[in-house]
Amino acid sequence: MTTLSCSPKRIQDAETPAETAELMRMRLKGIVPDVEISLKADLVFEINRLKKERNAIILGHNYMEPALYYGVPDFTGDSLELARISSKTDAPIIVFCGVQFMAETAKVLNPEKTVLIPAEKAGCSLAEGITKEDVRQLKRRFPGAPVVSYVNTYADVKAESDYCCTSGNSSAVLRYLFDKGHEQVIFLPDEYLARNTAHELGAAFVCGWDTSVDGMDLKGARTVIGWKARCEVHELFTVEDVLTARRQFPDAIIIAHPECSPDVIRLVDVSGSTKKMVEYVRQSPAKRFILFTECSMGDNIAAENPEKEMVRLCSHTCPYMKLITLEDTLESLRRLQFEITLPEDVIRRARLPIDRMLEIR
Ligand code: SF4
Repeated sequence: MTTLSCSPKRIQDAETPAETAELMRMRLKGIVPDVEISLKADLVFEINRLKKERNAIILGHNYMEPALYYGVPDFTGDSLELARISSKTDAPIIVFCGVQFMAETAKVLNPEKTVLIPAEKAGCSLAEGITKEDVRQLKRRFPGAPVVSYVNTYADVKAESDYCCTSGNSSAVLRYLFDKGHEQVIFLPDEYLARNTAHELGAAFVCGWDTSVDGMDLKGARTVIGWKARCEVHELFTVEDVLTARRQFPDAIIIAHPECSPDVIRLVDVSGSTKKMVEYVRQSPAKRFILFTECSMGDNIAAENPEKEMVRLCSHTCPYMKLITLEDTLESLRRLQFEITLPEDVIRRARLPIDRMLEIR
């Protein structure tokens, strides 16, 4: 979890729009042009004022654009960190500046609270890539294999699962299950994350969507049974991108998200969740980094590490995360929209795998 308190006074605590603009200029120097800050400071101030009036908290994912990321959330982080925060808050209203599946996870953990998402169409290609019926079929085809769902799934898919995980703890969750004696684990929906995690654990990988594997003898070897969904942002990074980046910036550390392809992951210096990226850059003595992940992540890390250079590939942005704007966050607080609602039985059944995810580090 990151609590935002990097300038002498937090932008969130500014008492006037002018002070908000001044604190934003200090925090986002070299990242966001002054003209953009002038346009956004009033919005940021009003969101923070209304948030206090409504006794709400705002959670902001690492992929939010920098003015929003540094200006309005009470807490920022990756999916796992934000899920942990949401499980502990007393605030009656949670505004989730992230995508739908994240807000659903917060709702499962807080069924009695009002959970809002500023843009109702903020989906995710991974979450869209599998249905609860797909999970039921996999369970029929691989009886006895526990189902681990990446947190990037909708709540009805989580409700069919035994465990959830994020990119930050996928290895720990799968290792835990293998060590418990399971030889096969279903890990869905991200094919690349499943392949990368299997490789890290020395396990075999089987394409769970391919019915030709039915009848194959999987006994005696640790096997990850994967699914075919991909992150439409991270799948764009290629081996050629890594080679080109190395030629142009031979001194840079290349860090890639494990939703990138195994061929890319094999070539980069570091692979990890957005939390790991933040921590790695903070602690590394290196001066230049290249991030293979959503573009705003590079801006947000650069703002925190002004003495380090972040090379960004901003042709790769998440269209869903970009739907979350300051304007819509303000409207969300004004109108209490868009409220996340889930069937009671889905909340009840999705809770256990999510609780297990929060326990395993
Ligand atoms: S970056 Fe990829 S995994 Fe994350 S919300 Fe966007 S499409 Fe989904």
